[in-house]
Amino acid sequence: MRPDAAILRFAPSPNGWLHLGHAYSALLNAELAEQMGGLCRLRIEDIDPVRSKPDLVEAIVADLAWLGLTYPEPVRHQSRHMDSYRATLQRLIDRGLAYPCFCSRGQIRAQAAASADNPLDPDGVPLYPGTCRLLEPAIRAERLVRGEPHTWRLDGAAALRCAGNALGYEAFDGADTRWVTADPARWGDAVIARRDVPTSYHLSVVHDDAEQEITHVVRGRDLEAGTDLHVLLQRLLGLPTPRYHHHALILDPDGDKLAKSRGSQSLADLRQAGVTPEQIRARLGFA
Ligand code: GLU
Repeated sequence: MRPDAAILRFAPSPNGWLHLGHAYSALLNAELAEQMGGLCRLRIEDIDPVRSKPDLVEAIVADLAWLGLTYPEPVRHQSRHMDSYRATLQRLIDRGLAYPCFCSRGQIRAQAAASADNPLDPDGVPLYPGTCRLLEPAIRAERLVRGEPHTWRLDGAAALRCAGNALGYEAFDGADTRWVTADPARWGDAVIARRDVPTSYHLSVVHDDAEQEITHVVRGRDLEAGTDLHVLLQRLLGLPTPRYHHHALILDPDGDKLAKSRGSQSLADLRQAGVTPEQIRARLGFA
């Protein structure tokens, strides 16, 4: 591999079985890595201590091997890197770019419902009205000392002021690249650390893409809006911005996103039913 070769990653969360949508993403990452003469790493995104299951990690690795996909060692397991995420979070806190939020989900819903305009973030969740951003420093400190459960939110406006302008990223599609202007403001004061762990999907993904020297991120379109926030976090943390390709999603016959909760067949179900890896590849358009 050349020193400047492309590095991609496939980053499943072990909170369900892999389905055809995952297979498509994994195969596309592998294919593009090969075309670019680079490699694709595997990252297990298991920050959720309740939903992530060790036996699902094993099943993911087995499903991928069955599809013919193997990955360089070491495989990164996010749950083993909480100290690094905590340190990264602390850098944002120290610069006054993140604040603790003590509001429960119910309180946030009620606050949003009470406001005249009720803007939603790209995931359809009401934007946080900023209640805890306005807390008196002494009260905030006292609640932290008391150990009151809290998330950490990015102060979106302060972060944008600090990041400066021209936020965006290069999107690639085959040989074509285009500049995409990022609009992180649509996420408001996003949660960057959950109550139970010192990180969130957004913070860990940005941290790890840099840590693993990822040059090209290939993932589903359902994660495209999140890239705006990732670009902002990269700028704040002085991390490089990879190129991105957000691929179309594999939908079920009703046009819905595949999900085990909607009864989509897992790769393990398909394997049990006698479907071969070659048939899966052909069905997903890979030679
Ligand atoms: N862990 C995420 C998922 O399974 C993917 C994250 C990413 O590719 O950025 O949906």
